[in-house]
Amino acid sequence: DLRGTFELHNGVQMPYFGLGVYLSKDGSEVIHAVKDALDHGYRHIDTAAIYNNEEGVGTGIKESSVDRKDVFLVSKVWNTDQGYDSTLKAFEASLERLGTDYLDLYLIHWPKGDLSKETWKAMERLYKEKRVRSIGVSNFLQHHLEDLLTSVEIVPMVNQMEFHPYLVQQKLLDFCNANRIQYEAWSPLMQGNIFDLDIMKDLAAKYNKTIAQIVLRWDLQKGVITIPKSSKKERIIANADLFDFEISDEDVKLLDSLDRGKRFGPDPDNFNF
Ligand code: NAD
Repeated sequence: DLRGTFELHNGVQMPYFGLGVYLSKDGSEVIHAVKDALDHGYRHIDTAAIYNNEEGVGTGIKESSVDRKDVFLVSKVWNTDQGYDSTLKAFEASLERLGTDYLDLYLIHWPKGDLSKETWKAMERLYKEKRVRSIGVSNFLQHHLEDLLTSVEIVPMVNQMEFHPYLVQQKLLDFCNANRIQYEAWSPLMQGNIFDLDIMKDLAAKYNKTIAQIVLRWDLQKGVITIPKSSKKERIIANADLFDFEISDEDVKLLDSLDRGKRFGPDPDNFNF
């Protein structure tokens, strides 16, 4: 169900379905999105310092019917804050804005060469000091992970990547699974483009579900955590209604076969700040 979890390699249970809030405006938009999601069974919220809405996320959690301890709260350190001291500082600033004293998961938002190794040392310290229940990365391709893994004490628990039927990166997913790094999908709805695909319309009709429910169900059946974004209450509720059916293995493979290496977001190898 909505509250179901995948176990991270440190034993922490991470809800495999959550709400993304990128582009949900700080203030009433994000407050309502978070509140509506939590009031309807979501237990996982994905934000980032760069989204400029951490305050609203914190308010939404407080105004919801769910206790902070029952919410899996994720934020990310932004590129310009990478480095040891600056990451520690950025973390405190995120907590302050979120109005909480710990995070459930803190991620390095994008790889940034050797500097990410310094960032990671700060993440490890925050983890050891129990300021954060788990730590991970985002947008790390295999070569970024291999490079980071040469110097880590703690292996990242999560890698959050763009993931949808046009960008499966199965080899990277296999590599993460082999290293017990939980894979997580961002832009699972292709930033809205998924709704235009005829094949998705066919599958939706076949299973009598919505296109969003089909593709998000595919994520879960592939063992991938997913965080679709919406700030519309009806869509937030409907997107999560995917625990009463299963996609056949054949259709999982059909969705896998749509892969064409197409990104709707930036390429981690060509994203410099
Ligand atoms: P998404 O794939 O979740 O798509 C969101 C779009 O789909 C929005 O325009 C929304 O209005 C629309 N939508 C949602 N449900 C719908 C429905 N039922 N019917 C029709 N339209 C619907 O895109 P996203 O926001 O880019 O990704 C999800 C989350 O992933 C983000 O909010 C953020 O938390 C995270 N993210 C992380 C990174 C990263 O670098 N780590 C990058 C991008 C996004």
